[in-house]
Amino acid sequence: MSRWIAKGLRTGIRTTRFPQAGVRGEEGAPSAIRLRWQGLTAVEGLEAAAICPTSAIETSGTAEEGELRFDAGACILCGRCTRRFPDAFTPVENPRVAVRSRDQLRTTLRWERGEAPAPVALAAAASAVQQAGLRLFRHSLHIRHVDAGSCNGCESELQMLSAPYADLHRLGLFFTPTPRHADLLLVTGVVTENMKAPLLETYAAMPAPKLVIAAGACAISGGSFAGGPTTVGPLDRLLRVDAYVPGCPPTPQALLHGLLLVLGRASQGYRADQEDQGGA
Ligand code: SF4
Ligand code: SF4
Repeated sequence: MSRWIAKGLRTGIRTTRFPQAGVRGEEGAPSAIRLRWQGLTAVEGLEAAAICPTSAIETSGTAEEGELRFDAGACILCGRCTRRFPDAFTPVENPRVAVRSRDQLRTTLRWERGEAPAPVALAAAASAVQQAGLRLFRHSLHIRHVDAGSCNGCESELQMLSAPYADLHRLGLFFTPTPRHADLLLVTGVVTENMKAPLLETYAAMPAPKLVIAAGACAISGGSFAGGPTTVGPLDRLLRVDAYVPGCPPTPQALLHGLLLVLGRASQGYRADQEDQGGA
């Protein structure tokens, strides 16, 4: 026993102070990609779409006249675009990337007559109501997780929330195995045909009011499996989603940010087309 006490005194407190302070240990692990449209030409945009393995970067038209659509909710963080076009596609290391509106993850560029690409319309800022979040569960929240067809990458990160480093309980957040006790449904995976009914039954069994989070590219957009023959998602086709946490998988801190965001205990900091907004 004394050996463990001595070790504890030696190592000190290892639990992250996130969200009060920055993250420790994960520096360098991107939580999302941001598009700096000023750093992209039309030709580069067309090439970026060709190397993107998902529908995160899509284009139509030619180098003379065309459009590029970037969707961080479909990005699997493969790093191809950031390595090829580092001035335009930049990794976001701040884990505060969860958003309350799907549009915050999207941006569209257009170009005409061979001119430089420019944004069509910047993603709308979150409304005051969205920023306020649902305050009812501010002090205690019970989470029911449903794997609706995941590769288990998202689950590995979710498990980390209960480990001593993230220590979810210090924030008043708890996982529960029963939907009857749950305030929030956290969904990972593409939502397969087979998981559709269990997912909807779990949601129906939860008492109102209830919240829903889509965690990871698969739940948000289908990710690498969008449009697959057994895929019926993304999640917001089936349920109203209160927050989206991008990533493949999302980092534990990004998941924490999503949970706190939906409770009104953190603010939104990410927009697909803008520099860090510095959300708390
Ligand atoms: S990092 Fe994301 S946006 Fe870039 S190529 Fe990979 S999937 Fe596409
Ligand atoms: S988002 Fe990525 S890690 Fe999560 S289930 Fe899909 S493929 Fe796996």
